[in-house]
Amino acid sequence: MKRLTGNEIRKTWLDFFKSKGHAVEKGASLIPHNDPTLLWINSGVAALKKYFDGSEVPPSRRITNVQKSIRTNDIENVGFTARHHTFFEMLGNFSIGDYFRKEVIEWAFEILTSPKYFGMDKDKLYFTYLPSDLDTYNNWIKQGVDKDHLIPLEGNFWQIGEGPCGPNTEVFFDRGEKYDPKHIGIDLLKKDMENDRYIEIWGIVFSQYNAVEGVKREDYKELPSKNIDTGAGLERIACVLQETPTNFETDLFLPIIKKVETIATLPYKEGNYMPYRVIADHIRAISFALLDGENFSNEGRGYVLRRLLRRAMRYAKKIGINKPFLYTLVDTVAEIMEPFYTEFKGNTNRISNLVKAEEEKFIETLSSGEELLNSLIEKGHKITGKDAFKLYDTYGFPFDLTKEILLEKGMEINEEEFNIEMSKQKERARSSRKEYQSMKKQSKDLLEFTSPSTFIYENEIINAKVIGLFKDGVRVKELSDEGEVIFDKTTFYAESGGQVADTGFAYNDNAKLEVLDVIKAPNKQHLHFVKVLNGKVKENDVFTLEISNTQRELTRRNHTATHLLQSALDIVLGDQIAQQGSYVCKDYLRFDFNHNEKLSLEQLNKIEDIVNSFISKGINVDTKILPIEEANKLGAKSFFSDKYGKEVRVVSVGDVSMEFCGGTHVSNTSEIGVFKIESEESVASGVRRIQARTSLGAIKLIKEKESILNELAKTLGASSITELNSRVNALNKKLDEQKNMIDSLTLKIANSLSSSIENEFVIFNGYDLLIKHVKDAKKDDLLKLLDSLKGKKQNYVIVLVGGNDGACPVLVSVSKKGKDNGLKAGVIAKEVATILGGSGGGNPEIAFGQGKDLSKFAQVQNKVKEMLE
Ligand code: ATP
Ligand code: MG
Repeated sequence: MKRLTGNEIRKTWLDFFKSKGHAVEKGASLIPHNDPTLLWINSGVAALKKYFDGSEVPPSRRITNVQKSIRTNDIENVGFTARHHTFFEMLGNFSIGDYFRKEVIEWAFEILTSPKYFGMDKDKLYFTYLPSDLDTYNNWIKQGVDKDHLIPLEGNFWQIGEGPCGPNTEVFFDRGEKYDPKHIGIDLLKKDMENDRYIEIWGIVFSQYNAVEGVKREDYKELPSKNIDTGAGLERIACVLQETPTNFETDLFLPIIKKVETIATLPYKEGNYMPYRVIADHIRAISFALLDGENFSNEGRGYVLRRLLRRAMRYAKKIGINKPFLYTLVDTVAEIMEPFYTEFKGNTNRISNLVKAEEEKFIETLSSGEELLNSLIEKGHKITGKDAFKLYDTYGFPFDLTKEILLEKGMEINEEEFNIEMSKQKERARSSRKEYQSMKKQSKDLLEFTSPSTFIYENEIINAKVIGLFKDGVRVKELSDEGEVIFDKTTFYAESGGQVADTGFAYNDNAKLEVLDVIKAPNKQHLHFVKVLNGKVKENDVFTLEISNTQRELTRRNHTATHLLQSALDIVLGDQIAQQGSYVCKDYLRFDFNHNEKLSLEQLNKIEDIVNSFISKGINVDTKILPIEEANKLGAKSFFSDKYGKEVRVVSVGDVSMEFCGGTHVSNTSEIGVFKIESEESVASGVRRIQARTSLGAIKLIKEKESILNELAKTLGASSITELNSRVNALNKKLDEQKNMIDSLTLKIANSLSSSIENEFVIFNGYDLLIKHVKDAKKDDLLKLLDSLKGKKQNYVIVLVGGNDGACPVLVSVSKKGKDNGLKAGVIAKEVATILGGSGGGNPEIAFGQGKDLSKFAQVQNKVKEMLE
């Protein structure tokens, strides 16, 4: 076996498959692009979905890559097994309608066993296959695999929902008896028992059938274009080749663990493995996700990162680390990874700062969460399981802590309710996972349709010939209801770059079509989704195309305004501002950008003013097609996650803005009319969103706001909007006066009550004892009463019960002297509340409870006296 480092394994893999005619594709970002159903890229094939589902034609039919992957569903396995991570790298080779079983099995065997590559001992390799898939069985035999090393398994069929599916074969490496303490042997594999002896290193999927709901697996039809999708875990291969006990001792992890050891008080030894492994795993996931532009937040991916960080910090406590430290590991992760992931260079400071701030935030959360919880309790709010879940879910406040604090106060928490909320959340996560892997249906016909179609930017009425007709992606001869049309040329914009598609009509003497939506087909022609209003469409028919004028007009005003907005943001906030996304339609525009804090009113005003000044200057807008190098040299702005071809379209607005853009624009800024910001909000931590309107939309917005003000003026009895301020000030003053009056009245009532109760103290066993039911009083009333009573006695025990039968709060207070004598308010409150059919508790000086059954009040008297004896 060849002892290769992590870096050497990646290189060996890519070089090997390159020598077999594969194009080496750079691994994609962990953040899925254009795929809202997927939270993280979780496998090699997920990043290439666009080629597999036929929405894009691949540059080569054979591809190999190393793909960063995150699988949050493996989080509980981390450190528990030798081989699972949340972040790992998948080595892959893919055939998109090219080679199939024979080649992929031959190559797999070669790279695994040949001394030129990994040089694994073939006697240690086992291969599972679907029992009915004899083709796969025979191919492995042909490579010289012993039949005892071929394990049939019913489960070896890859299918998620409808669409492409097929049998798979998996490669396992036997790490020997050492990892099989019960000497179970090959049954571990045959019976699919959890074990670290036979490690799955590689999965190969033969995607050859089309799954259809309601059809039996044996009856699935063969796919028009068969694919191979494979994935091998880099860390697992490293573990095998470097012969380490787990993945965590390979060169991909060990430096991180060593670094943690310098901070922790307990070493990396039996008993402490788990915290070390969790930390090393989670910091890799966090570092890579931040590198790819993700941020900590309260939802989606950002929330996953927040949870990973907090989980790592909680585990760190177990090895004696109680302060921010994860941020110091970012450099170590970068050092290990930089030879392959050069993008770490120049980014580690940024990442490490984000991690540090988030660690500090968590420590802050722990203390402010406690404060929040306490203030809720003091306000008499009953903490439900739902509340506890919310504290946990939104503030990251651990449930155990909530439980502890409540217990201290003698309050209970509905753990079951908390668990229900928790499992609801897990279900939500699971169902979104289920969806994300299912592939869209392949459309062979659209993939093969390569006739060109031209897009004409100008909004003019043209005649165009039908060159392709489809129904749900299948080529048809004619259409009479609904379907998809490609013309030889078109003026309909296809949805892209955040701008929505044009809608409109296509007509001739015999037929009329409504164009509902337009997208780009796999080979980039504009694909029109149409409804046939009358007549029929056939290939070669000529139609007059007419797009909706208003929609195009309003949309392009918003699009150009988006470019102006970006320039204004540069001026006001600095030119580190980069676009994170945008959306442009006829009614409004939306622009997302990186920025860490809420914009002030002044900043927003300034931005609005600048954009409006660009508009009023009447600047001409130019578009040019340029070679990409030239456009870059001119300093045109591009959107980081878009891929660009050799030539790009550059849109410039005088010397105000220059951007790569394929969208439709006004020819002069004055056409935009006016620009008005509608809202500014956060969409993820570190990302802000501005929504704005232009021209008629902006006027409408201003009118809407004005009418709210007018309405308000009417309600407040102001004669006009300008008088609003003074009206509101006067009202506030009146409110203040009334509040003061209420406060002084409440105080008077409490005082008079307390002086009448004062006489009810009795002397018992040296204590001033008061046991009193105050009808209708709430917990707050009891507290006020207690305050005025306490000052009147030195050595007191006060037991107050409020409310009525059914719900009666209990308050117990013991003077310092009583406490020194060993009396405990918490214990008394617990006894009292228990007699009254409820529960209670607290500290030795003050304690609370909640009872239900006032008929037992007489027993309270006796019990308390008994406790004072
Ligand atoms: P397992 O059953 O061990 O969880 P899997 O069936 O989920 O593996 P695949 O989805 O087939 O794995 O992924 C292909 C390869 O990626 C696996 O053979 C393995 O080498 C690697 N892999 C999968 N999940 C992880 C993980 N959480 N951590 C590290 N490597 C993984
Ligand atoms: Mg798995």
